[in-house]
Amino acid sequence: MARHAPALSEPDLELALLRKGVGALQSTRCRCADCGRTPLVGERTYRYARAVVCALCRPLRRGEPEAVELVRHSERGHTVRLRPAA
Ligand SMILES: [Zn+2]
Repeated sequence: MARHAPALSEPDLELALLRKGVGALQSTRCRCADCGRTPLVGERTYRYARAVVCALCRPLRRGEPEAVELVRHSERGHTVRLRPAA
């Protein structure tokens, strides 16, 4: 006996795929621990012992950060690179 999957309308399918895609993007995104903002490409982030904060929230913290990192574009390392001629 064949099993029938529950009917899913086209708009419901589109919405489900959109939510799945947005959720996947948010899971890998870096966020500021203080304001929750996603730092822009080229912006510096400051890593402390327990948190990474953006440049706007950095003045609110005392002490020096453990590391300062530059936010890179998501395509970094996946683009075509020029190689020196052999
Ligand atoms: Zn922030």
